Amino acid sequence: MRDYQMEISLTAARKQKPAFDQLQFGRHFTDHMFVMDYSTEKGWYDPRIIPYQPVTLEPSAMIFHYGQTVFEGLKAYLSKEGQVLLFRPEKNMERMNRSNARLCMPPIDEEFALYALKQLLSIEKDWIPSYEGTSLYIRPFIISTEPFLGVAPSNSYRFMIILSPVGAYYKEGINPVKISVEQEFVRAVQGGTGNAKTAGNYAGSLKAQEMAGNSGYSQVLWLDGKEKKYIEEVGSMNVFFKINGEVITPVLNGSILDGVTRDSIIQLIEHWNIPFSERKISMEEIYQAHKEGTLEEAFGTGTAAVISPIGEFFWQNEQLEINNGETGELAKKLYDTLTGIQYGTHEDPFGWRV
Ligand code: PMP
Repeated sequence: MRDYQMEISLTAARKQKPAFDQLQFGRHFTDHMFVMDYSTEKGWYDPRIIPYQPVTLEPSAMIFHYGQTVFEGLKAYLSKEGQVLLFRPEKNMERMNRSNARLCMPPIDEEFALYALKQLLSIEKDWIPSYEGTSLYIRPFIISTEPFLGVAPSNSYRFMIILSPVGAYYKEGINPVKISVEQEFVRAVQGGTGNAKTAGNYAGSLKAQEMAGNSGYSQVLWLDGKEKKYIEEVGSMNVFFKINGEVITPVLNGSILDGVTRDSIIQLIEHWNIPFSERKISMEEIYQAHKEGTLEEAFGTGTAAVISPIGEFFWQNEQLEINNGETGELAKKLYDTLTGIQYGTHEDPFGWRV
């Protein structure tokens, strides 16, 4: 880790905190944020923790025009004993650098970024809600800041970490959702930026999401960009199926984001000796399995919800109900195990808690 000097300036006016039992996702931000700058001449410099505040940029700053930016998402959890816990945070820093590489952005010092995050969390500890299922969402991100309208990698960047207290994803118990299989739009293509966590992927996904929402579906199931045949992701989550006792998830092919939850679930499933394969899986195969009665479970996985069971797929004018629209046993067991590890109530066989 490079030996940076970190400046800390604390706010004179702490904000009034929102009611921690009624939090919405991503609406409230804590008193402080981490900031660090980059220039081609100096590299990363001037790391600091300062009061949460607006960012001033020139209208010509490259981020506004060509979207050269990356972000991450993880959470801090408060244990019953009042300890601040993170779940595999180094995986997010590694992924941020993979995204940086794809977007021609400079790598961060992963170890220092984690150190800076811990410093910020120690200042903002009383922003971590303690009601069951609540947490402090962490959003590290990097934007290109050079005032220049040429399409080229920026020569300057800003790395920031902001924090947002968030409520329990499932207020009334883990709840299956209805998913529309997207036939027209695609999220990503091989060779594109699907495996990087960059803004454009999310902007491009909104239209399909909006249309599915208008038809009463909570998310879309994304198919591959070439043949619209193979399953990639669900909403902004990875996806798993259980067919005839075997767990299957689409193999990482360049257009799928490599989820930290996905990786953790694969390790748990292998640890439990459940038959598992990571491979291409088509919607036709899901349809056949459903028809034969062997499609036992389907669920999305990601930091926000941990596990999001799928109760129904809408595909080619047919509704395919899964497990009578109820949460499957495996989804429930994975949810309980992962949240138990995250909140410190479950043993941590892989040493994932930090
Ligand atoms: N896919 C996409 C497109 C996502 O945005 C996310 C959320 N980061 C995931 C999958 C799940 O990743 P993780 O388990 O690391 O949250």
